[in-house]
Amino acid sequence: MSKARSRVLVTGGGGFIGSHLCDALLDKGHEVICLDSFITGDRANLEGALGNPNFVMVEGDVEEPMDFDVDFIVHMASPASPVDYSNMPIKTMLANSIGTLRCLELACRRGARMLMSSTSEVYGDPKVSPQGEEYFGNVNPIGPRSCYDEGKRFAEALCKSYEREHGLDVVIVRIFNTYGSRMRSNDGRVIPNFICQALHEDSITIYGDGGQTRSFCFVSDMVRGLTLAMFATEAGGEVINIGNPNEMRVIDLAGRIREKAHSQSEMTFSSLPVDDPLQRRPDIGLAMRLLGWAPEVNIEEGLEDTIAWFKEHR
Ligand code: UDP
Repeated sequence: MSKARSRVLVTGGGGFIGSHLCDALLDKGHEVICLDSFITGDRANLEGALGNPNFVMVEGDVEEPMDFDVDFIVHMASPASPVDYSNMPIKTMLANSIGTLRCLELACRRGARMLMSSTSEVYGDPKVSPQGEEYFGNVNPIGPRSCYDEGKRFAEALCKSYEREHGLDVVIVRIFNTYGSRMRSNDGRVIPNFICQALHEDSITIYGDGGQTRSFCFVSDMVRGLTLAMFATEAGGEVINIGNPNEMRVIDLAGRIREKAHSQSEMTFSSLPVDDPLQRRPDIGLAMRLLGWAPEVNIEEGLEDTIAWFKEHR
């Protein structure tokens, strides 16, 4: 499937995962067009890419009609942290509905493969664990997270509709919690929050009793999984979880970050946000079988790398 050199459109390429994906594709010699409105992305994430002659940055909204001569489209443009999408619920729904439509229209016109970056949020507050791709989820359709959860569920359904009606080559990847360099210190997610709090000796803000679980994937593992899913012929038509199955309680994460940051910060407890999932852990059997993918970076190494980056950049 992967030509020696492919032309790839990455929407949301200025964001945390998107910019790492752009860098990885450029490293492999591909041409990359990054489309980003920078409402949550950051131009600084593209400093390295901008020096590469195979890279083009286009500033704009994915909801606008677009035309690029590409072989692959990776649609990542969307606010993606609970704080961001709660602040911009309409924008979030539009990026995942109209934005996905624009990507699919372009993919049809150009005969390109479409990789939709979906999310573990399609499983909502899951009643089964670990979450396999066949699980339909437990989602509140009108709650504060619904703009993102239902936006992504709509995007998946639209991708499947294009596949059925137009025979489009579509791959859906459900991204689980991911962390690493280039996360914004104010995006509200748990790892940047805890790291910044620990480094500044501020209180570590635990929501609920900290007994809720997440499974954290280091960004280099995520990008390797996305790239494999993008180029593997066998991935066509599949829905694939990519994430690290190493599940931990939020309170234990806080303890590890405090220790690794050599911090004396206290922990404070406040109420759990509405519809905050109590557990999350991916079943990655399909990614292992289909792509030969498994995470390689453990939480210790990943946190050390991320803390070092935050010390220098935030
Ligand atoms: N969380 C927390 N303190 C914070 C930020 C988040 O306890 O300062 C919790 C949050 O309630 C959730 C988990 O950490 O249970 C992960 O939250 P995040 O916003 O990173 O992503 P989510 O997995 O909920 O999309």
